[in-house]
Amino acid sequence: MRMPLVAGNWKMNTTLNEAIALVKKMRPGLDQIEGVEKVICPPFISLAPIKELLKGSSIKLGAQNMYFEEKGAYTGEISPLMLAELCQFVIVGHSERRHYFKETGEIIEKKVKAALKFGLKPILCIGETLEENEAGKTEEVLAKQLSSAGINYAGGLVLAYEPVWAIGTGRAASSRQANETIAFIRQFVSKQSGKETAQGVRILYGGSVTADNIAEFINQPEIDGALVGGASIKADEFISIVKQASDIKRVR
Ligand code: PEP
Repeated sequence: MRMPLVAGNWKMNTTLNEAIALVKKMRPGLDQIEGVEKVICPPFISLAPIKELLKGSSIKLGAQNMYFEEKGAYTGEISPLMLAELCQFVIVGHSERRHYFKETGEIIEKKVKAALKFGLKPILCIGETLEENEAGKTEEVLAKQLSSAGINYAGGLVLAYEPVWAIGTGRAASSRQANETIAFIRQFVSKQSGKETAQGVRILYGGSVTADNIAEFINQPEIDGALVGGASIKADEFISIVKQASDIKRVR
């Protein structure tokens, strides 16, 4: 049984004070929900204070990005060594990083490996653009994004299928479409790393998930949870998303 996971990607939102206020608002509701792994990914500067705020909570922390080197002359970067003291998860390869910051497959592969080396669970995002989707190239694109040699799927890595055209657009994929694509991803992992490993890897859907559509996604057999952007900085909505995921698929 794969433990469902719902992660909130706060992106470049919330000042420190706002982040603290948001966590205080979310914590009581989220702490009551069982059988689902709950992760929030605030901006870097809020990780340390939020870690303190979350003492004794079942909510886990994730970063939104990291560099792949351990330390050194990389002005402005944050390393996996630094993050390992603060959080358990790190989002890697988000389409906004691929697009705005020109992160290549090679960089992303290094980040995934560095995260695993330092005991962080990468949430590796993959997904096709609208043009690729319309050209019928979704599987080809996903296979390319996944085929970076040497990714260890057995090490706690989480995958997030996030069609780029669905992120922040209010236009979510259909749950059937997402389920089929995630089944393809699992099959691909199975070919690379064996059936048993593939059955253990959690694969999330991300892209305009809300409290109104989460149930459709989580009801699909291949979908193990969600990576939530916009709706994750609205306390009541995020709690509702996690609660519905728990009602439908919690692991006891
Ligand atoms: C995301 O940032 O990963 C995301 C899926 O955003 P949104 O839920 O806002 O589409």
